[in-house]
Amino acid sequence: MKMKKTALLLALVMSLALLCSCARESTTTVYVMDTFAEITMYPKDKKTEERITEMLYDLEGELSATSGALSRINEAGGGETGEHTKALLALSEQYYKETNGAFSPYLGSLIELWGVGSKNHVPTEEELSGALSASVAENVERDGEKLVLKDGVRLDFGAIAKGYATDVIKSILEEEGTKGAVIFLGGNVYVHGTKPNGELYRVAIRDPKGNENDWILALELSNKFIISSGDYERYFEENGVRYHHIFSPETGYPAESDLRAICVIADSGALADAYSTALYVMGSRGAIQFWREHEGFELVLVGRDGTVTLTEGIGNNFIINNQKDYKYEVAKR
Ligand code: AMP
Ligand code: MG
Repeated sequence: MKMKKTALLLALVMSLALLCSCARESTTTVYVMDTFAEITMYPKDKKTEERITEMLYDLEGELSATSGALSRINEAGGGETGEHTKALLALSEQYYKETNGAFSPYLGSLIELWGVGSKNHVPTEEELSGALSASVAENVERDGEKLVLKDGVRLDFGAIAKGYATDVIKSILEEEGTKGAVIFLGGNVYVHGTKPNGELYRVAIRDPKGNENDWILALELSNKFIISSGDYERYFEENGVRYHHIFSPETGYPAESDLRAICVIADSGALADAYSTALYVMGSRGAIQFWREHEGFELVLVGRDGTVTLTEGIGNNFIINNQKDYKYEVAKR
């Protein structure tokens, strides 16, 4: 399943082949946070690379809801939290409010119940209503420095942790003065600086209907996070029904979105990650409405009906690739 998820990543960095042919850069791949992280940078720099990989393992150790410190806090109904858990919870509370609960860090019990990609269980109505009533913000309290998780609520940062990790990577790259880098962490991409020849990096958005090398649009950017959510990233099928991993916090079922995928482009990885999940849940109309009401990010929406919508702030820095299967349009403010 893990391999499948990796193979199905939405975004792929098109300039990578070109980049890797340059003797001055290095590319490292590590398996961490349940996915592959690919770090390409120039100039070659072992120390920065090691700082990044160590930090990713630390984050995994703290934040994994299945094996990290967070899983023990969930199991014990609370406890002392580490630095990253604290920071993520604060950010998550903010995005939970902004998205009116469409992004919710309180869904751990529901996510475990379904176990998409592990036990693959379609819950009974009774199981579902139990998990849903546990999964509310009111069940999370603080006792001084300690977190108190009441009535079965469990935290899950699966929709934001990788984006947050790319924010931390960005700050390492800045501290180390790295000139150019492409960070690829699951469906999340961060492009830093420029290519060795001074050109902008190109990030391609995959065709959810095609295979790994099919793409519908490429964006040219620098110092941006490009983060995607889609129903094909992790799912299982039972009796002909496909159950994917992005849940509607209202129904407890996989969100019935008119989108196949959504891609958020922003200056913050955590924000782009949380929004990509929330806006997938909201569907195309809700997502565009949300974009009109909020500043600081742009969107590419891939609808089930074959419409690709770009928000106008993307400007002219894109290349269209598949006008046979897709209709491209621009959303205005
Ligand atoms: P992403 O790939 O960033 O959209 O995140 C999907 C992951 O976030 C899932 O595998 C769950 O762990 C978790 N998740 C699912 N639905 C939601 C939701 N509505 N709000 C927050 N986290 C969610
Ligand atoms: Mg997300």
